Amino acid sequence: EAESLAPDQVETLRSIYMSSSCSISYKNTGGLQITGGRGSRLIDVYGNEYLDTRNNVAHCGHGHPEIVEAITYQMKLLNTNSRYLHPNASLLSQKLSNLFPSSSRGDADSLAKVFFVNSGSEANDLALRLARAYNKKQQNNVLVQKDKQPKQCIITIDHAYHGHTLATLDVSPYKHHQGTEITECPAYVKRVPYPDMYRGAHSNCKDENEATEQYSAYVEDACQEITSNGDTVSAFLMEGGMSVAGVILPPKSYISRCVRAVRDAGGLYIADEVQTGFGRLGKCMWAFEYSNDDSDDDDDKVLPDIVTVGKPFGNGMPIAAVITTPKVASAFESLGVEYFNTFAASPVCCAAGLSMLHVLSKYELQKNALEVGSLLMKLFSEVKARHGWIGDIRGSGFFLGIELVRNQQTLEPATEETSFVCSVLKEKYRVLTSIDGFHENVVVVKPPMVFTKEDAVEFVTCFEKCLIDLPAIDKLHQLGKTPT
Ligand code: PMP
Repeated sequence: EAESLAPDQVETLRSIYMSSSCSISYKNTGGLQITGGRGSRLIDVYGNEYLDTRNNVAHCGHGHPEIVEAITYQMKLLNTNSRYLHPNASLLSQKLSNLFPSSSRGDADSLAKVFFVNSGSEANDLALRLARAYNKKQQNNVLVQKDKQPKQCIITIDHAYHGHTLATLDVSPYKHHQGTEITECPAYVKRVPYPDMYRGAHSNCKDENEATEQYSAYVEDACQEITSNGDTVSAFLMEGGMSVAGVILPPKSYISRCVRAVRDAGGLYIADEVQTGFGRLGKCMWAFEYSNDDSDDDDDKVLPDIVTVGKPFGNGMPIAAVITTPKVASAFESLGVEYFNTFAASPVCCAAGLSMLHVLSKYELQKNALEVGSLLMKLFSEVKARHGWIGDIRGSGFFLGIELVRNQQTLEPATEETSFVCSVLKEKYRVLTSIDGFHENVVVVKPPMVFTKEDAVEFVTCFEKCLIDLPAIDKLHQLGKTPT
């Protein structure tokens, strides 16, 4: 029945029966009806093929045959809630925890305990809950003044996004700029600037070390402020590479400096790997590893207390997870509360997760991300040398940000131009992109991990053509803003 709906009926039914708050891309041009996909290509209802440079959910590519087969096989056997023992869940928990380096601080601090959930938001929500449980246990060992209940504070980064639940919205400053639902962080959340080396408060630093000094000082100060108010540092929550902030990879040792201050204050480090996990950065499996200084010895290599994963985990199936240490898990267990989540760890979603991990390793897709990502960087650098529009190219592997500016000195953001470029990329060249960053002028490149060298050349060639054809800003205003 669904297949027989004409495209305009699809639009009409959606507008009548679904809330207009529900997000879609290319809204201003009526949205895209995507009904098929293979590898790095998506196909719309009219049979048009698009190059997908932005989908980090179909991690191993759209409709990967081996993953589709694994899901279908399991669906025919059984899919049910998480009340029963099942080999898929047990095996997946082992394989997932084996993807993390061991801790130099011992087994109690290794990332060895898995909670399955259904989405990145659920994962971060549970991560905050686990941190709270851990703090509570720590506090029971300390005498707390009866008349003052300390706030359990979370340190979050400006313009970060961690999810759509009430708790995760509190720690997602990105959402505080949108609409009027939540317009600022609540008192228990401390927001610090993101470590932007291109246009941030300390972009004039002479090197990464200085940037690390300057930006980690905000976290150190936040810890100091929290504890001197008699409150506790519950956790420092950060992506190893910030996505919606516009691909911000922190300077070397930034995370380890921040984590040291947080741990000294009794808090935990939660690494949100929902966008960046499973090898996307090419160089490493997890983004939290990226800013480790290569010269650091093992003791200095930062390992989170809690990691959250989502989007790519099931190659499109809703499976996400929280991975934590026995120390944190046991604090939660000691509260005596049972954790039940109906759909989490369903046999089918776990089959998807197992198969995604298998395909990722079998076809060496992390290596592909590194190689093709480096090619993308090189091609974009060549375009940058030919045109004035590209201010910065940053990132690693298949996690790249191309920041467009009107002026290389003042760094005036080319927000409308970025929107126009992405619109033309879709309309004329059938290339799908996404825009992020505080000024909405960063084209974020995060394609499926099977993106090829030919895809890279096609993408950058089309991108350059759009820059060449970019009308002057007054002409753009006449044309009307065409946001994607
Ligand atoms: N964390 C990050 C970094 C994200 O980008 C997102 C989603 N964009 C989430 C968490 C929330 O994940 P989900 O939409 O699966 O709930």
